[in-house]
Amino acid sequence: MKLHKILIANRGEIACRIMHTCKRLGIATVAVYSDADRHALHVQMADETAHIGPAQAGESYLSVERVLAAAKQAGAEAIHPGYGFLSENSEFARRCEQAGIVFIGPSPESMEAMASKSAAKALMEKAGVPVVPGYHGDNQSLRKLEAEAKRIGFPLMIKATAGGGGKGMRVVHSAGEFKDALDGAKREAKGAFDDDTVLLEKYIRQPRHIEFQVFGDSHGNVVHLFERECTLQRRFQKVIEETPSPFLDDATRRKMGEAAVAAAKAVNYVNAGTIEFIVGADKSFHFMEMNTRLQVEHPITEETTGLDLVEWQLCVAAGEKLPLTQNEIKQHGHAIEVRLYAENADKGFLPVTGRIEAFETPGDDFVPRQGLPKIMRVDTGVRSGDEISIFYDPMIAKITARGKDRAEAIRKLRNGLARTVVAGLVTNLPLLRGIARHADFAAGRFDTGFIDRELKTILTHPPLIPQALAAAVAQELAILEAKAAGSPWKADGWRSAGINGLRLAARNGEGNEQLLRVSGDPRTFVLNVDGKDHEVRARVMHPGCWYLNVNGESCTVEVLRHGDLMQVIIGDEAVSFRLTNPFAPKPRRAADAATHPLSPMPGRVVMVHVKPGDTVQPGQALMVLEGMKMEYTVKAAVAGVVEKVLHAENDMVDADTPLVDIKPRE
Ligand code: ADP
Ligand code: ADP
Ligand code: MG
Repeated sequence: MKLHKILIANRGEIACRIMHTCKRLGIATVAVYSDADRHALHVQMADETAHIGPAQAGESYLSVERVLAAAKQAGAEAIHPGYGFLSENSEFARRCEQAGIVFIGPSPESMEAMASKSAAKALMEKAGVPVVPGYHGDNQSLRKLEAEAKRIGFPLMIKATAGGGGKGMRVVHSAGEFKDALDGAKREAKGAFDDDTVLLEKYIRQPRHIEFQVFGDSHGNVVHLFERECTLQRRFQKVIEETPSPFLDDATRRKMGEAAVAAAKAVNYVNAGTIEFIVGADKSFHFMEMNTRLQVEHPITEETTGLDLVEWQLCVAAGEKLPLTQNEIKQHGHAIEVRLYAENADKGFLPVTGRIEAFETPGDDFVPRQGLPKIMRVDTGVRSGDEISIFYDPMIAKITARGKDRAEAIRKLRNGLARTVVAGLVTNLPLLRGIARHADFAAGRFDTGFIDRELKTILTHPPLIPQALAAAVAQELAILEAKAAGSPWKADGWRSAGINGLRLAARNGEGNEQLLRVSGDPRTFVLNVDGKDHEVRARVMHPGCWYLNVNGESCTVEVLRHGDLMQVIIGDEAVSFRLTNPFAPKPRRAADAATHPLSPMPGRVVMVHVKPGDTVQPGQALMVLEGMKMEYTVKAAVAGVVEKVLHAENDMVDADTPLVDIKPRE
């Protein structure tokens, strides 16, 4: 390897991921960081570090000047951009070139050829790669777009040609919806990409997103490393990815692989890239876009090909040939990756911020509880105590399970997710567990609408069965006993009074509450659940691991506990609930949200639609907020008159901040 020192122009899990490979290959690493990331894991892992500015990405991770200055200062020979941030910025790649620093990625020319979804589609048509039928011309007048929409027919998609990350995209079901959707897409595109050019595309029904990993070198070789099925999405963004796709047959896979290689060759592609296809129920496939970088979901490709894609990127960037030819690249087994996000599935998947009080998952660094081997690959950039802030992506980790076949990978995923704990903030962990145990997922029966459509059947909470409650109570009693043991005076008091009629309440995510009453001793007790007695014998096997006998039936369970949060693992199912003192006072209710609408997430006010004195109707837009990677319109819940507008455009607001005061109409 000709490279000795590289700078990583990114943060979080991807910066850590790149450094893992560098460490293995003996390449020195330079991390860059913003004010918000002073103590971040990626900074701790690096050989050298460079502070590049304030928390706002625009003035740090997205600053071409600052990143380049840091690279020069450190004497780095190359820059790895990761994904997001500057990774698809051809101007940055060009500036690196001019500064004599290797940009670990494609040439600026290939990036530019694929940067606009419209130009890329035109190019692909020429190269004989099938594209989604639609309109991707220069004439952007409303009349032209409306006429083209009629020609294409509904449903159709409007997409920002500069788009990415699901922004500036709308599905339109009828001509009547077209203009509003166009305005929305254009506004979002203008804000996010400073370019409101759009294209129109036929909406492929029951679509599956299947992409191919491609790789090129500077000697003219291009190969593909098979597909990744990324159909499970919310807000047009991937949540679960797997390979091989359960949907493809060998013939279609071969045709798509050839099309992907042709697409990459058409732009003389060098380094790692992804060709995204949208696939119809009839297995017809169409080019959607090319991502000219390493993809978030690359671990599943690594887990099934046994290759290190970052190592390949470094080899290619150093001018070497691809390590393998197409025929030598083989796939074994099955891998599934889930993206663990700080977000609230019950509230439209809004991003959540806050401190991660605890994050544990049975991955690489996992200390086995019951001698469990590593069952999953975990890519993360955070640890317990870190903050998910408004400034960056709310992803906590990528968790990848691998099996000899799909069924085994799903079993390991369920098992691993049951044993994953995140405390301190709301995450999509219940959603991920719900999908992993869903019958349609097991059968490979899904399309991109699956999560939205099946949300109710996915987000079911495992019931509070007596075994789960008994395990949590046994753990609670053991803790009380240990505390009491520390003080002989308390021990007596506890023994004589505490356990006779100890009362607890268990409440799960659905708000179901059960009242518990416990009598006996920590190893043999009677657990009364809502008036029904259960005889329990409990023996601790390892800390947190119990051998239980409930009403004559034995089982082994694990209890993970954070404060009053209990996670009891029975088989590969996690039963989560809060175990509390039923006599504690209830928290006060929030202010009346109907007359004082609150911001649902932290973010920036991008538009204010009302002023004091305006009359509003339920559903009327009041303000548009932008936070992390999405836009959200706050709407009136009641009819009334606006009394006060509490925030102006460009104000930064926290979650649950009052935005507008409305005097309801009597
Ligand atoms: P796509 O959805 O276009 O196929 P990926 O999902 O592979 O692409 O990756 C896009 C990723 O870029 C996002 O998921 C996100 O993690 C990253 N990204 C985009 N914007 C930001 C940002 N402001 N901060 C951090 N990461 C970002
Ligand atoms: P981005 O650059 O934001 O990743 P894409 O063009 O890749 O945008 O589209 C993102 C997602 O939107 C796809 O993964 C798919 O779920 C959906 N999508 C895009 N185009 C179509 C289409 N023509 N028909 C149906 N779904 C589509
Ligand atoms: Mg995409």
